Amino acid sequence: MSVRYSVVVPVYNEEAVAQECYVRLTKVMASLRDAYELIFVDDGSRDQTNAIISNICRQDSHVRLVSFSRNFGHQAAISAGMDLSSGQAVIIIDADLQDPPEVIIEMVKKWKEGYDVVYGQREKRKGESVFKKATAKLFYRFLSAQTDVDIPVDTGDFRLIDRKVCDVLSSLTEKNRYVRGLVSFAGFRQTGVRYVRDERFAGETKYPLKKMMNFAVDATTSFSKKPLKLAGYVGLFLSMASFVYLFITIYLKLFTQTTVSGWASILCVSLFFNGVVLIMLGIIGEYIGRIYDEVKNRPLYIIKEKTGFQPRKDELKN
Ligand code: UDP
Ligand code: MG
Repeated sequence: MSVRYSVVVPVYNEEAVAQECYVRLTKVMASLRDAYELIFVDDGSRDQTNAIISNICRQDSHVRLVSFSRNFGHQAAISAGMDLSSGQAVIIIDADLQDPPEVIIEMVKKWKEGYDVVYGQREKRKGESVFKKATAKLFYRFLSAQTDVDIPVDTGDFRLIDRKVCDVLSSLTEKNRYVRGLVSFAGFRQTGVRYVRDERFAGETKYPLKKMMNFAVDATTSFSKKPLKLAGYVGLFLSMASFVYLFITIYLKLFTQTTVSGWASILCVSLFFNGVVLIMLGIIGEYIGRIYDEVKNRPLYIIKEKTGFQPRKDELKN
């Protein structure tokens, strides 16, 4: 039987929420009264997550489990789930129940109206630190100012996408993926549904500051060349400013008694310029590092095991 809805759930050390997530998702998906599958992508968990979901897999034929050989990251996990999904509509949702599964019903309604992408837009975020909320808000606005692609603000990866959008995304090979940006890049008819983001059901965030920063840099470099242009503009401005200073110095030397004094000023100027140059080199380095990743062309993820998937027709032949 062909599947109408595929739900993709990335999980990384989520033993505290896995069972509850399954129960809530099943309730919502069963209410839609159409064939569905739940694809859990285990992103190299080191706790009992894998065992818990394997167990569920054995009891419920709707559930599938993809296990990575190690931790490849949230965006890679989502991509794997989409690659392996077979539904006409694919829903991506976090395991921690911060995004209420009940919103899926609204998303499906919009999809049936003819939209190809229905993204969840966070109206409010409960139970997250002031720091996380402030940085997230700032980041989404910064990103939308930087990019040419129109990426809606305050949207996460919680969304429904149509099969044709999913196929476009699977055909993109880029490595440092910012999936929500790629969805915007794909185009098609898009709309949002607003919802209140809940607290994490249990456990802790799997996005420590380091991962969050890396994520932000991935997003910016994937969708904008403006930081590189900025390097050029800053350089231009500074060299013009130095010319002005040069003329002032010459003027002082020739037409007045004062001489420009001291090694301190030289040191300050030198430190300032070296600092600026190093920052710019760092920005260029971020882009080069990503080009390097593309050139190596290593796989986005490595699958250790798949459970609960029906063998495809072409696999049956052998
Ligand atoms: N996640 C993952 N791999 C990672 C980090 C996170 O698959 O390396 C999953 C995690 O299990 C969760 C989702 O991505 O289902 C979002 O993570 P989390 O809720 O910790 O992020 P936050 O909501 O705090 O930004
Ligand atoms: Mg979360």
